[in-house]
Formats: sequence, C-alpha cells, structure tokens
Amino acid sequence: MKNSRRSFLAQSGLLTATALGAPHLARASETILSQPGQTPKRVIMMVSDGMSMGTFTGADHFSLLTRNRPTTWRRLLNQPETVTGLMNMRALNAIVPDSAAAASKWGSGALVVNGAVNHFPDGTGLKPLCEVLGDAGWQRGLVTTTEITHATPAGFAASVSSRDLADTIAEQYLEHRLDVLLGGGSDKFDASKRKDQRDLFADYAQAGYSLLRTAEDLRTAPLDRRWLGTFTSGHIPFLVDHQNDAAHHKAVPRLAAMTKRALEKLANAEHFFLLVEGGRVDQACHNCDIAGAMREQIAFDEAIDVVLEFQHQHPDTLVVLTTDHGCGNPGVNAIGGAYARSSPLFKNVAAMKCSVATMIQQMGTEPSVDQIQTVFREATNGYKISERRASLLAPFLARKGSTLYDVMNSAVVQVGQLLANHLAVGWTGSTHSADYVLVTARGPGAENFRGFINGTDVFDQCLTFADVDFRNPQLPVTDGFALQSAALENTDDYLRVMA
Ligand SMILES: [Zn+2]
Repeated sequence: MKNSRRSFLAQSGLLTATALGAPHLARASETILSQPGQTPKRVIMMVSDGMSMGTFTGADHFSLLTRNRPTTWRRLLNQPETVTGLMNMRALNAIVPDSAAAASKWGSGALVVNGAVNHFPDGTGLKPLCEVLGDAGWQRGLVTTTEITHATPAGFAASVSSRDLADTIAEQYLEHRLDVLLGGGSDKFDASKRKDQRDLFADYAQAGYSLLRTAEDLRTAPLDRRWLGTFTSGHIPFLVDHQNDAAHHKAVPRLAAMTKRALEKLANAEHFFLLVEGGRVDQACHNCDIAGAMREQIAFDEAIDVVLEFQHQHPDTLVVLTTDHGCGNPGVNAIGGAYARSSPLFKNVAAMKCSVATMIQQMGTEPSVDQIQTVFREATNGYKISERRASLLAPFLARKGSTLYDVMNSAVVQVGQLLANHLAVGWTGSTHSADYVLVTARGPGAENFRGFINGTDVFDQCLTFADVDFRNPQLPVTDGFALQSAALENTDDYLRVMA
C-alpha cells in the first residue's frame, strides 16, 4: 500500500523531487512560464563542454551510486514544462567542431573554421552576442572552470582569428565591459605573464572592476561593481585530484558557488545573459579519464540546481542546458557473462583517487614496470595490473607506441584503455566527435529549442528576445557536406519539400 502510494507520487512528480534533493523541481511546474510565445528577461545558458551522451549517461549512474539520486539534468527531461531537442554543432570546415567554432555558432550566429573565434578566414570579425546584448542594455556574465579566456566563454564575447590569442580575448572582455567574469586563467591578465607585459588587472581595476582572487573574495564581493574573478593561474584543477583537499576548496570556489554569486549579482539587472560552463568535462574526456569527467559533470549538475532555484525565484528566466560536441565518446561496455561484471566494475570509478593527467605525470616518460604498477594500484585504490600490461603501456609513455588506429596512439588513450578493464568504460579515442548534442530548455522561449535545431539558432533567439534586429555575415560550408538550409531543418518544411 505504502509502495503503491509512493509509486503514484513518484509518477506524478510530487514526491521524487524533494525526496531526492531537488526541491525546486517539486514546485517547478506552477512557477515556470511555459506558454509558447513568451519572452524571457534573462537567459542562462549552461554548457557541459565536450559532453558525449555516454558522459551524460555515466554521470547519472555515478550520481545514483555516489549521491543516491539521479542527476538533475536527467530528471528535468521528465518535467512537463521541459523542452528537449538535438542541435547540429558542425563547424564551417568540418562536421566535427572544436569549442571555438561551436561557441562561435552560439555567439555570432555564424559558422567559422575550427580554431577561430567569431572570425572568418578573410579577416572579417563578427560581432559577438555579449557585445550586441550589451549595446541593448543587457548585463552579461561568463562563468567557467577553465581559463576565463578559453574558447567557449570567448565564443560569446570576443572576436579573434585564433582561440590561442587569449591575451587579446582578455582585453576584449574589458572593451565590452562584461559585468561578471569568473573562472581560472589569471595569467592572461598578469603583467608578468602576458606577452605584452600589460597590467590588465590594473586596467580592469581602473575601469571599476572588483578583482577577486579567492573563494573568500567571491563571497564578499560588492554587488554594485563589475567582477573579474580569476581563482587560479590556469584552468581550475580537476576535482578528482582534490577530493579531500579542504585548503584547495577554501581557496578555489566550485562551479555551483561561482554560479550562485554570479546570479546574486546579476539578479538586480532587468535583463541579463549568463554563460555557465563546466569546461573540464571535455578536458577529462580528452584524457580518457572517466573518474575526472564524472566528478566534473556532477559539479556541473550542482550548478544546474543553483540555476533552477534562481529560475524558481525569477520565472521570467530562460534556462538552456547543452554541450558543444562529444569528446572521447565514453561508454560503459558489456563485460562478463550476461554482462554481469559491468555494474560492479563501474562502481570502481567512484574509488579513483586522482586524474589520468596526474597518473601520467607520476609515471613520467621512462618508468619501470614496477613503477607503473604502483601508480595504477594507488590511483585506483587497489587495482593490480599485470607485468605484461605494464610493459605494453611503457612505450606509449615514452612516445614510442604504435597502434592500428592513429588517434589511439597516445599515453592518455592507452592508460584509459588499460583502466577500462577495471572501470568498464571504454573510449573511441581522445578527440571530439560530430555527434548531434542534447539541448534541454525550460522557461519562457523554451519552445524555440524543441526538435532538431542548429547551433546558430541560439544567437538568433537571444537577439529576438532582446528585440535587436542584427545578423552577422555568413559563409557557405567548405567541406562538401551541405548544411541543410534553415528552412529544411524545420521538419514541416522538410516534409513539404519531400512531398
Ligand atoms: Zn575539447
């Protein structure tokens, strides 16, 4: 009896949200503006960078394992007001995008060549979304776990020929007077680290910004000033390397904490656009590091909880969750008779004590077989690899390995494959993939993200919401894979043409 009541409540969505630690979902339906045709006053775009569907799926299993509840993102899919679609993120020159070209689609409504940020090969610079919205009176914020000048945040607020021009990107953020900048990458503002030795921190301070360098600075930052928060010199370190490191967490805020403070600051603006990026999911997957990716994806999910709570308080907010491309395409593989070993092996992911990057660093380029075995045993909390396997790995650490599939020919991929025997998660490589990406939207305007859409639609929709009539120039794709015209990407139009 009790069970059937619980099951009814679960189906109706009344019990699960509060019982499973996401109270904003329980009271969501009556507060979320979900009627088509409404215009949001605020847009929060959340990007888990390089999130293959295997990462999305794995994180849900990992969440059930370690938090005793599903991910909030997965649970959102069953909410009646949630809109779900798939997005085409191809670049101008390739069906596989990098983060710069992908973010440029969202950030300028145009396709660019991989590596460029809102910039065409002929030198034409495109006007980025944050500049256009700034001109329209919107406040704008970028929050990330990578360097703040990295490709994804840059795609919303900069225009440069190459993503490597991070020093220039840092200058453009100031020129556009972005209201909130939180992440890693202080080197790009530091006179002693910049190529031109310009003291960009001083220039930001001169322009009225509060300079935030620690989690404590972030907690106490004045809400009436613009913020430049750079909490580490490079990217914010992988969480898997700092699981029990209280000193680190005291100094470096988590993504959810940065998101919460950014929203507290932006809440007073009549209109704002905020990007929240879980930027190191991608970087963990480049390292074939499932434990690293799971920790980063869960941290991203914590930030989703913060954003949904804000949306509950401010119903005229549109929330869009997505990723820019797949990376590594991890998957829990079938192992053992009746695949019975897959589940217990996947549980070993939670016992991983450090990142693959740290393992590689510890092994160095010429370790003994014994040293390799020790690093694996300690990193995995007990997994003993055979001498034969350690010997097979050694040449890859020395960059003398050889594989049949070229993209597998690296130390990280081979460490990832070796770990797969213990964690049940295999990889297709350590690079991006052309997968169409999941997009989940909620709030006023969400209906525009239903079905199969193009990455450029994000830019166009944001300008529509801001009532701005502007389009950047476009170039045709160059790799022979015709991009379906916008009209043909609409199912009704497609069916009409095909009829
Ligand atoms: Zn990447």
